Amino acid sequence: MAVEATAVVWHGTDTGFTLESGPLPEPAAGEVVVRVRMSTICGSDLHTIAGHRATPVPTVLGHEIVGTVVATGGTVTDHRGSPLAFGDRVTWTIGTSCGTCVRCVAGVSQKCLTVRKYGHEKMSDEWWLNGGFATHCHLPAGTGIVRVPASMSDEVATPANCATATVVCAARRARLTAGDTVVVLGCGMLGLTAAPWSRA
Ligand SMILES: [Zn+2]
Ligand SMILES: [Zn+2]
Repeated sequence: MAVEATAVVWHGTDTGFTLESGPLPEPAAGEVVVRVRMSTICGSDLHTIAGHRATPVPTVLGHEIVGTVVATGGTVTDHRGSPLAFGDRVTWTIGTSCGTCVRCVAGVSQKCLTVRKYGHEKMSDEWWLNGGFATHCHLPAGTGIVRVPASMSDEVATPANCATATVVCAARRARLTAGDTVVVLGCGMLGLTAAPWSRA
């Protein structure tokens, strides 16, 4: 096979990381394979690497990702229902959702009863490219996929599904409105996002 993928595989604090290569998966119906353009190192990745957070291993860490569509399993649409095509620059939800379970129906699809989260699942034969720290990522059906506008840089788009989403949700919960004064305590990724978000 001409195209191979390579992933940085996390095995836990004793072994650390290894590089693993293999053939690019053929996407099944509803699935997408992307070439990773950028993936951030989220605070939760750092917690995992430091041994403060348990994650099933082996796994590919990284869940804030922007990539370019390489292949789709049949017609797969973005969140607006527009068919995705080779070369589209996309980002996607932190995990999959079924759309029919009690939590999905209640509007909290991020807590879907059968959620599979990028960068948080044990690798399997069917799904080994399951995180961002790799050349490619394999998106199962049920992933919410968003085309990134050409005017938006990878740097801005990549954290959308985690750091940006967390800040936006916090601002919504706090009912942040124009004219409010905001104090940002700590300037990690969330603080660095909260400050310009509040200003805007
Ligand atoms: Zn994160
Ligand atoms: Zn569900």
